[in-house]
Amino acid sequence: MARGPTHLPGVSMAGSFHRVRCGDCENEQVVFGKASSVVSCAVCGTTLATPTGGEAELAGDVVETVEAR
Ligand SMILES: [Zn+2]
Repeated sequence: MARGPTHLPGVSMAGSFHRVRCGDCENEQVVFGKASSVVSCAVCGTTLATPTGGEAELAGDVVETVEAR
């Protein structure tokens, strides 16, 4: 019998990070591609990412995408 923490099959810890430029203040901020909660701009508070259950919906310009591994 399995014991300890449950590992969800098919769910990887890896994901992408996106450098997003805020459309309001041009602050650049790194956002996890699978963010599970709303990510707000650290400078002006504008929503930069909205969780969807999978890849977060990004607002503003994606300057750079970094694949985590
Ligand atoms: Zn901002």
